[in-house]
Amino acid sequence: MKTISILGATGSVGMQALDVARSRGYRVDLLTAGRNIDTLERAVREFSPALVAVADEAAARDLRVRIADTSTRVLAGEEGIVQGIALSQSEVAVNSIIGEAGLLPTLAVIDSGKRLALANKESLVIAGDIVMRRARERGVEIIPVDSEHCAIFQSLKSGRQSEIKRILLTASGGPFFGRSAEQLRAVTLEDTLAHPTWKMGKKITVDSATLMNKGFEVIEACHLFGVGSDKVRVLVHRESILHSAVEYIDNSVIGEMSVPDMRMCVQYAVDYPDRCPTASAELDLVGVGALTFCEVDTEAFPLLPLAFRAMADGGAMPAVLNAADECAVAAFLRGKIRFSDISEVVCEAYSHMEGREGDTVESLIAADRECRAIAENIITEKLGRA
Ligand code: NDP
Repeated sequence: MKTISILGATGSVGMQALDVARSRGYRVDLLTAGRNIDTLERAVREFSPALVAVADEAAARDLRVRIADTSTRVLAGEEGIVQGIALSQSEVAVNSIIGEAGLLPTLAVIDSGKRLALANKESLVIAGDIVMRRARERGVEIIPVDSEHCAIFQSLKSGRQSEIKRILLTASGGPFFGRSAEQLRAVTLEDTLAHPTWKMGKKITVDSATLMNKGFEVIEACHLFGVGSDKVRVLVHRESILHSAVEYIDNSVIGEMSVPDMRMCVQYAVDYPDRCPTASAELDLVGVGALTFCEVDTEAFPLLPLAFRAMADGGAMPAVLNAADECAVAAFLRGKIRFSDISEVVCEAYSHMEGREGDTVESLIAADRECRAIAENIITEKLGRA
């Protein structure tokens, strides 16, 4: 029986990881959350982990009282999460924390020597070189949970690194596929949260609609698979059945297909190299009927080309891109700015930070904080003008 930790256990991926633990019978020894202690308490009562950690200190104090009748130890704050990772005896940690908050936990998992099943793509966007180097030095495996990267990881089993021509990263296109920049000015929050094929947390759902998520995935793929961004091609594939593919130098294209279900990816990352039966549905190709592919409209969705640029710019610029996007999406979710303002805020904040270097965790976090302050100012100015 495998023992796992789930970081971000109350979120969309985290709850699906709990589902996988339930169906595969894994033991769970550490659960973490930001502040949602209602959901966390239910999980504690079901899985009896040795440890839980809650980023919000007041919520951690409440949880300590609520679960005083159990033997689970409660740790508090961001340091509590890092401490929990170091203390946990699990073989695999699923990092499904959202945003920049996932970076230090990613590094803590690597330092603890556990396998990292990585959903938190922001760790690689912000500090990909550092994360990958540290994993290599410590001999730690990083197995991607993001469905596209899980598909690429599997497709790479068919050839050697030197035989890769390019990575074909598929994108559903999100809810606004086919709309022009002008038409995007009128979309609402409700329209944005209605993703055609995936049910996900709100932040990544918005990022899927702007294609920022695809941009982050390009950066993630470059780090995970050691390729330049010139070797990554993004294709719109509305059906979300081919989760991505690798094209080799002999023009063979090897991809992975399945129903869109993150549970398969979590299970693959935990059980790898074994394949095990899953609770996910079979793929009925006749039912799907046809698979279609087309190019992305980069004029309507400028955040995708900006991610390619951030990868080329290097230094702290990918971290800057992430920070600006986290601020802009949070403002959109609070109803402060419009959908089309998201890319404007991100592009403007990016220009302000142009050329920013950074090659240590501290310098990257400093650039993140500075960019957030700039993005908040831009948002306030926009509100003033509205
Ligand atoms: P959710 O918003 O649904 O969940 C986020 C989790 O992170 C929650 O457990 C939340 O706790 C926790 N969290 C939030 N803030 C903090 C913090 N400051 N410190 C510690 N923990 C925190 O996100 P998703 O599950 O949608 O996404 C998680 C990650 O997985 C992202 O990086 C995303 O890009 C990636 N991903 C998601 C997919 C999906 O299908 N959802 C698909 C592929 C990748 P609380 O509930 O208490 O706030």
